[in-house]
Amino acid sequence: MLIECLQQRVRDIRVEVKPTSWPTGGFMVDSRFLRVMRDREEVDAFESYYRAAREKIEAPHIAFANLKHETELLPFFRQFGFPYYEGEQLMAGEVLIEAKRLRLLMETWGMFRAENWPEVRRLMGELLFALRRNAHWFYWPVPLHPLSDEEKQKESEKFQQMTKMSLGSEREIELARAADLTDPKELLMQMHHLFYEVCTEPLKLVEIKPSVQLLLSERGRHRQATLSWDMKPVHYLGENEYEHGTYSIEEPVVRAPYGLMYLMDLTEGKETRICAECRNVFDANRSDKIFCSYTCAHRVVVRRSRSRRNAKRKLPRPRRSN
Ligand SMILES: [Zn+2]
Repeated sequence: MLIECLQQRVRDIRVEVKPTSWPTGGFMVDSRFLRVMRDREEVDAFESYYRAAREKIEAPHIAFANLKHETELLPFFRQFGFPYYEGEQLMAGEVLIEAKRLRLLMETWGMFRAENWPEVRRLMGELLFALRRNAHWFYWPVPLHPLSDEEKQKESEKFQQMTKMSLGSEREIELARAADLTDPKELLMQMHHLFYEVCTEPLKLVEIKPSVQLLLSERGRHRQATLSWDMKPVHYLGENEYEHGTYSIEEPVVRAPYGLMYLMDLTEGKETRICAECRNVFDANRSDKIFCSYTCAHRVVVRRSRSRRNAKRKLPRPRRSN
């Protein structure tokens, strides 16, 4: 089965700082919105995914899961495209949290397979918190919008401190709740739930439709039909009327294609692992691989030999026996 996910190639991404009210109200923050400048050219993220299986290139969902910083967004979307949609701009944190959710799921499943239960519980708690709608404000905090009125500014500061604490305590609650999961059945159920939330749920929001193509050979003798599935990683929210017609309101579901790629890898028996050195996820094509790259493996070797050398230096010199 073939999946196609055409997205627009990105030329540039600019960060626009705009004052917005905090989701629960009370004060204004300087949010970082992404202004995505697109090319007419389209790219298919799944084409790269299928190619990664044949050639030695990094699969898109691995690259997506490793996104941690705002500056990494442009090279990623330049390569794999950004969903075309009509709607409001996304905040940098809103995109980064999507990647973090997938990475945390990969890590959790990796630890689950390795039967490292304390790590599984910790990661489950972290992921349950990261799945909350407001969690990106915790991981990628934005500054308070400065106010000229000193008194109001102080009030905002106090309020911000409070909400920061409440986000932190929400996280603590999830961590504590997950730490209580000791029954293997409960852990398995929670694992199921997390796969559903991270990978399946987004696929239910987006449009995926079959597309049949009929091919005729040159002489017209051979007729062939192919079936593919077209994915548009966008959630349709409704329509707005204006004087000349209507326009639709949509929001991109950025992680939908990458979550599906991960599910496809899993069901084919492919494994993603966490690098023992840099904590990035990588495709484990060999069962004994524990580092994502030569660089990471080399770094560890150098460090080990250095520490061995230092240890030797500390040893007293062996006395020559006569
Ligand atoms: Zn590494």
